[in-house]
Amino acid sequence: MTRLRPIIEAIGLEKRFTLSAGPFRPQATVHAVDGVDLAVYPGETLALVGESGCGKSTLGRMLVGLMPPSGGDVIYRGRNLAGLAEKDRRALRRDLQIIFQDPFSSLNPRMLVGDIVGEPLWLHDGLGRRARRERVAELLGLVGLAAEHAERYPHEFSGGQRQRIGIARALASRPTVIVGDEPVSALDISVQAQIVNLLEELKERLGLTLVVVAHGLGVIRHMSDRVAVMYLGEIVEVATADALFETPLHPYTQALIAANPAAAAGARPKRSLLEGEVPSPTAPPSGCRFHTRCPHARALCRDSRPPLAPAGSDIGWQVACHFWADIAAAGGGAPIAPARPAALTRRLALFTAHSTASRHEE
Ligand code: SF4
Repeated sequence: MTRLRPIIEAIGLEKRFTLSAGPFRPQATVHAVDGVDLAVYPGETLALVGESGCGKSTLGRMLVGLMPPSGGDVIYRGRNLAGLAEKDRRALRRDLQIIFQDPFSSLNPRMLVGDIVGEPLWLHDGLGRRARRERVAELLGLVGLAAEHAERYPHEFSGGQRQRIGIARALASRPTVIVGDEPVSALDISVQAQIVNLLEELKERLGLTLVVVAHGLGVIRHMSDRVAVMYLGEIVEVATADALFETPLHPYTQALIAANPAAAAGARPKRSLLEGEVPSPTAPPSGCRFHTRCPHARALCRDSRPPLAPAGSDIGWQVACHFWADIAAAGGGAPIAPARPAALTRRLALFTAHSTASRHEE
């Protein structure tokens, strides 16, 4: 039996930022990502979701080596990114690419599109001018642009076209993993679906693995195989997209979905909506970080941090909540959307294969 290993894995990953002291505040440390374990499997689309400031973008950037972790490891195809010499790190960087949120600021306005897309071809492959021009034309074609667009500047394009240019640049080094950092959230609604469809098409065609950072749950539901939900730097639930949107187990996931009409479309809305502000990541609450907003919190929740542990009916479903089973039994995890059997079956098969492989590797 072929073992399916994670293509990329976070182990105890941490990121802390120090905020300098100001006139009205002391120096403080932001715990942006705190002890995250996460496996991404080849060929899947994994979504990282959560409210602003939960650490999902930071985690995405650490996964592709764009940001060094403060602690923990990122393992890519069995190699620890932290232990690599600069030469090896550069070589691996071509496998791990990122698409940024803002297609307006992520492209150098003084460079022709052909140079923007072709730069990695020169840097990584040392391609000459003619070979570069041919490859750039090919890449622009892949993302639905024309070869003559290479001779224009970014400001001559719409937001959706600029994002296509960003995708073409990310594809230039023939990556295996692409992190999309809110890849459609800066675009008009009418353009978002086109870019999502393009990413899905490219993933199938080029055999990519996608990690999509997003707060728009509607998009996530449409395009992801699995979803990891983050709250204040921690992962609180990981499940297949169908399981998560149909029967979320963690109270935060339940509230997040209930508060998002696009994700809950056609569903029975839940009563529990998110209340209160997200606590400061400079002073995260003790125990379960969600306890200050959780309608099910008990004394234990203040004192003890719940581990991300197996839960639910699917193999590989994980939840960080002391009382998820009680909450589900009391109806807190009741289905909020009708099942979609075909998609559910496909994703469960993928998830089960991954989880079985993981257990074989232990
Ligand atoms: Fe709510 Fe307690 Fe579960 Fe945290 S551990 S989500 S506070 S019930």
